[in-house]
Amino acid sequence: MRQEIRCGQCNRLLAKGDVRELEIKCRRCGTMNLVRTTRPSREAREAHSEKRVENNR
Ligand SMILES: [Zn+2]
Repeated sequence: MRQEIRCGQCNRLLAKGDVRELEIKCRRCGTMNLVRTTRPSREAREAHSEKRVENNR
């Protein structure tokens, strides 16, 4: 699945694509962004058994 990789600091669009794990440095602010796509696994579910709150639309 394609996604947009954005800088966590300045929100600049850094890359687009299918990423599992990537380190990319923002050219604008120089922040090193570590991008990781985590698949929903059982362990993760157990760790986050609380209800998911999505107020980030
Ligand atoms: Zn940046």
